[in-house]
Amino acid sequence: MNPKPKDDGKKKPLKGPGMAGSIASVILIFMVIIAVYLLISGASEGNPVIPISQLAADVSAGKVSKITVQGNDLTVLYKDKEVKNSKKETEASLSATLANYGVSKQALDSTELSIQNQDGFGYWTLNILPYLLPIIFIVIFFWYISRQVKGAGMQAFTFGQSKARITDPSDTNNRITFKDVAGCKEAKEELKEIVDFLKNPKKFLDIGARIPKGVILTGAPGTGKTMLARAVAGEASVPFFNISGSEFVEMFVGVGSSRVRDLFRNAKKSAPAIIFIDEIDAIGRTRGGGFGGGNDEREQTLNQILVEMDGFEPNEKIVVMAATNRGDVLDPALIRPGRFDRKVVLDLPDRNDREEILKIHAKSKPLSEDVNLKLIAERTPGFSGADLYSLMNEGAILAARENRKKVFQFDLIRSIEKVMLGPERKSHLLSKKEKEITAYHEAGHAIVASVLPHADPVHKVSIIARGRAGGYTLKLPLEERRLQSRKEFIDDIAMSLGGYVAEKIMFGDITTGPSSDLEMASNLARAMVTRFGMSSAIGPISLTPSEGKPIWGEMREDKYSEAVAAKIDAEVSKIIGNGIKTAEKALKEHKKVFEAIAKKLIEVETLEQDEYEKILVAHGIMLKKKEEPEVVIEG
Ligand code: ADP
Ligand code: MG
Ligand code: ZN
Repeated sequence: MNPKPKDDGKKKPLKGPGMAGSIASVILIFMVIIAVYLLISGASEGNPVIPISQLAADVSAGKVSKITVQGNDLTVLYKDKEVKNSKKETEASLSATLANYGVSKQALDSTELSIQNQDGFGYWTLNILPYLLPIIFIVIFFWYISRQVKGAGMQAFTFGQSKARITDPSDTNNRITFKDVAGCKEAKEELKEIVDFLKNPKKFLDIGARIPKGVILTGAPGTGKTMLARAVAGEASVPFFNISGSEFVEMFVGVGSSRVRDLFRNAKKSAPAIIFIDEIDAIGRTRGGGFGGGNDEREQTLNQILVEMDGFEPNEKIVVMAATNRGDVLDPALIRPGRFDRKVVLDLPDRNDREEILKIHAKSKPLSEDVNLKLIAERTPGFSGADLYSLMNEGAILAARENRKKVFQFDLIRSIEKVMLGPERKSHLLSKKEKEITAYHEAGHAIVASVLPHADPVHKVSIIARGRAGGYTLKLPLEERRLQSRKEFIDDIAMSLGGYVAEKIMFGDITTGPSSDLEMASNLARAMVTRFGMSSAIGPISLTPSEGKPIWGEMREDKYSEAVAAKIDAEVSKIIGNGIKTAEKALKEHKKVFEAIAKKLIEVETLEQDEYEKILVAHGIMLKKKEEPEVVIEG
């Protein structure tokens, strides 16, 4: 589940206008330049132009009163107030030229000659602009191209700069504090120390205390790691440099490490500050022996981070925070003392925390009186903060779609399922036969779950397709649990096989429907044998690396012999076989209620918990009771 939360204050680098906009502005600039040129040069135009020989004749005839010389351009004012233009030769002076054309000394004397300053603005513009214009145009053209290239992400001129987004402490709109993060009490407690240090570094430095340079936040996706890091910066009112691990790694070698250097340099300039490297597992995985000789670029980036962290003095007042949901794959060099030596673990929220998180996200939404967030929290074990955020959001969307001004409880209840399973696919039409098979299949799951003592109670059964599932039986644990027992696994496997067994009993044939059920059951059975030591034949030995352990170098190779492999397979088959027997027994023993549920499903398609339980009770099946948690007082 990975909902896109509201823009959490990340600032995108400014982007230039679109392509069309740029072209338009270049053309506009060009046109303005041409217009200016025409305006200036046009000042002397519009008059008739005469050859110099004509001018000489007119001067001799005494018709001319004044000649203005401007470079080689002549403006001739006639006695009858007519104005004409002419040009003289480049080298010779006007009087010499006219003399050459046979103008007498007297005639020339009676004409006023005025030589105008040649370095006037207009003169220079007029003369230089024709040469300048293409140059200006080329410059603009290249500037425009380089902007386009940048826009395309190549950043031809800014490779090595870090792309960190900076959140300024004075930016109150995007400021997040601990108040905005619900739950996570232990994590907040640990991080308070960092906040204290950033707020008042002197106090700590004076007493010679060594402040952690690096804090690593680990936890499942959506548990609020990014949010919490942001909140530390908000609490301490320091700048927050935010960059994601994957942003260091580019196509070009050396870019990553130069980005790291740039990032640390910038952060030091505005110390005290927080550098936050999100999803650090993108660069911080265990080094060496990777596929295809390893990723040198990634290694160098990682090395550079280590060098920077080793390199700064305690008085540098920079705390580097990092987040990952794969704490187990990080390079040991990253987490040794002096680097990311503080590890803060964020757990999935428990019931109270879930309620708090729901309350936070409910703030901006008008809720109807019937909304009971406590109940929603109870119904959502295993949801992360991000799931809860998207639950509230879905609820609001449902309400808005139905043109209501307030969010009702049933909007939120519907959203729980939506977040868990994806939206309902009402359009997926089942043929009559398909519908019947699906109904018996789901009823099979449900009855097995309700009859077996260690399976979770059923909350809802439906034959409406959802996400990828054709139908579904929703079961939720009565309470949250961290440990699962062998008995629970066994019953879970039987419950997963309930659909398969139901089809076999009722139709004597199997469809492709239960394939994912079978997969789930087999995986669970295999895990019981090889990871949890829950089979007597193999004993309490772990035979698979725990999920997510680095497998660089040594390819995924099972570390046990063929003989053991055969034994494992036999054990898995045994567990599955037993599961099928258990399910068969359950369905045959309770065939009446099983059929009743299936028929009801064909009729109404979806059974909520109370309707479902009514049918169970009518057939004399005991409902599961919520156990009161035992309170043990020690002392
Ligand atoms: P992570 O980085 O751990 O994957 P985020 O910090 O990005 O998760 O959280 C995603 C969203 O989930 C947040 O923007 C917030 O809306 C919500 N959220 C997660 N945890 C909490 C929490 N403890 N309190 C309030 N909201 C939370
Ligand atoms: Mg995150
Ligand atoms: Zn099924």
